[in-house]
Amino acid sequence: MTYDVVVVGAGVVGSLTARELTRYKLKVCLLESEADVAMGASRANSAIVHGGYDPVPGTLKAKLNVEGTVMMEGLCKELDVGYRKNGSMVVAFSDEQLEHVKMLKERGEKNGVKGLSVISGDEARKLEPQLSDTIVGALLCTSSGIVCPYNLAVAAAGNAMDNGADLKLNFRVTGISDDGDKYVVTSEKGEKVEARYIVNAAGLGSDAVAALLGDDKWHLTAKKGEYMLLDKADGKMVDRTIFQTPTKAGKGILVTPTVDGNLLTGPTSEKTEKGDKSTTLEGLDKIKSTAVLSVPKVDFRDVITSFSGLRASCDETDDFVIEQSEKSKRAVHAVGIDSPGLSASPAIAVYIVELLKKAGVKLERNEKFNPNRVSCSHFRHLSNEEKNEWIKKEPAYGRIICRCENVTEGEILAALRQNPKATTLDAVKRRTRAGMGRCQAGFCTPFTTGLIAQELGIEETKVTKFGEGSELLIGERK
Ligand SMILES: Cc1cc2nc3c(=O)[nH]c(=O)nc-3n(C[C@H](O)[C@H](O)[C@H](O)COP(=O)(O)OP(=O)(O)OC[C@H]3O[C@@H](n4cnc5c(N)ncnc54)[C@H](O)[C@@H]3O)c2cc1C
Repeated sequence: MTYDVVVVGAGVVGSLTARELTRYKLKVCLLESEADVAMGASRANSAIVHGGYDPVPGTLKAKLNVEGTVMMEGLCKELDVGYRKNGSMVVAFSDEQLEHVKMLKERGEKNGVKGLSVISGDEARKLEPQLSDTIVGALLCTSSGIVCPYNLAVAAAGNAMDNGADLKLNFRVTGISDDGDKYVVTSEKGEKVEARYIVNAAGLGSDAVAALLGDDKWHLTAKKGEYMLLDKADGKMVDRTIFQTPTKAGKGILVTPTVDGNLLTGPTSEKTEKGDKSTTLEGLDKIKSTAVLSVPKVDFRDVITSFSGLRASCDETDDFVIEQSEKSKRAVHAVGIDSPGLSASPAIAVYIVELLKKAGVKLERNEKFNPNRVSCSHFRHLSNEEKNEWIKKEPAYGRIICRCENVTEGEILAALRQNPKATTLDAVKRRTRAGMGRCQAGFCTPFTTGLIAQELGIEETKVTKFGEGSELLIGERK
C-alpha cells in the first residue's frame, strides 16, 4: 500500500508526530532503525520539561519550548506517562552569575514563561534545605517539570498505533527515491515502503536522511552527556531540579529527582562520534565534583548505574531546523533537535503537521481518534483494593518478578502485548521498570527472559537485550 505519510525515526518527535497525524484520516507509518522506539536521544537525557528561559527570544527553540511545556502535563495525563511539575532553580555562586540569572529571568519573560522569580540564597535554601551555603541567589521557575522521556515516546507510538498507524522496527532508512508523486523508502535490508509525504525525525541521523532527499546543507555533531543515577533512598535530596548557572558549554551539571523517585546527576557535554554511548572515568568524576557544589550531601556511594545520551547538535545553527525540504517539497525535516527538544516535542509535532498541510497533505478529522492510553505499568499506581481486584481477574499481577521495583508478571506480559510490543529485555525494562532498581536486573533477568521467550514463541537463546547481536544467552542447553 502507499501511505499518506511516512515518519522516519521513533523518538519523542517522530512518535508524537505520528500520533498527531492519526487525528486525521491518514495512513501513517513510523519507521525506526532500532529494535524498539526511543533508542536515540529520547532514551537518555535529563528528562526535564524546561520552563523556556534558556532559548534566545524569537527563535523556534523559544517558541516551541514554551508551547511544548504548556502542553506536556495534559499530554502525559492522556498517555498515562510519568510527569511532575516540580519546578526548578538556576543557582548562582557569585554576583556575576547572579547577573546572568537575572538576564535569564528577563529572557524567560520575553519568551512568555510563567512563574519566574529571582530569590536570595537564603530563600533558595528555605525551599531546598540541602543547597550549598555558597549559593548567593537563584532563578526560581515554577512552570518547569520532569517527565519519563522514553515512555513518552513509547506511549505516543502506541497511541498512534491504536489509532491506526503502522510501526516498522529494525528499518534503517538508507535510500529514498521520488517519482514526483510518491516516495519509495528503502531500508538497509532492502525492504520498501511507499508514501506520498515524508517526515524526517531521525535525530542524530536526520542530516543523513535529509541528504537522501538532496538536502545536504546540515551536519550534526554528537555531543555526549554522561549521567549517574542514584538509588531511591536519595530521591528526596531535592524536590526541584537544581541547575547551575549555564556557560557556553551548556546548562551544566544538574541534580534532580526523577519521576520514578531516583536522584539524577549530570550531564557532561563532550563532542564524540555518533554511536558512542560509553561513560568515562573523567566524565563521571566531573559530575561528582560539580554536583556537590550545589548539593554537597549527594552521596555517590548510592549510584546504581551510569549512562550517556547523544545530543544532535547542528554545526550550522543553534536553533531547531524544522522546515519543508528545499529539494523535495513533500518532505519535512526536523534537524538538530537537541535540548530542549523533549520539552518542545508536543509543540514540534503540531508544527510539523502544519508544515505538512502547507506541503499539500489534506487534514480531514478522524472522528474515531482516541487520545487516551493506559500504560502497561498502570498497576503500580493503583490502591491496594484496586490491585486486589486486578489480581482476581489476572493472577499474574500477584506474582512479583522484579523485587527492587515491585514489578509483576502481569505488567511484563502487558508490555509484551501492548502497542508498541516490547520484544527485548531493555524494551520490557523501559516500559515496566523491571531491572531498573538497585540490583540492576541481577535477579529478574532470567524470569523476564523466560517470559519474553514464551510470549514471542522463541528459544531463550534468541532473546536479546536491545536487538540483533545482543543475545543474552549463548551455547546449547545440555
Ligand atoms: C544528554 C542529553 C540531555 C538532554 N536533556 C534534555 C532535557 O532535560 N530536556 C529537554 O527538553 N531535552 C533534553 N535533551 C534533548 C532531547 O532528548 C532531544 O531533543 C529529543 O529526545 C530528540 O528527540 P528526537 O525524536 O528528535 O530524536 P531521537 O530520540 O534521537 O530519535 C530519533 C530516532 O531516529 C532513529 N533513526 C536515526 N536514523 C534513522 C534511519 N536512517 N532510519 C530509521 N530510523 C532512524 C533513531 O534510532 C532514533 O530512535 C537532552 C538530550 C541529551 C542527549
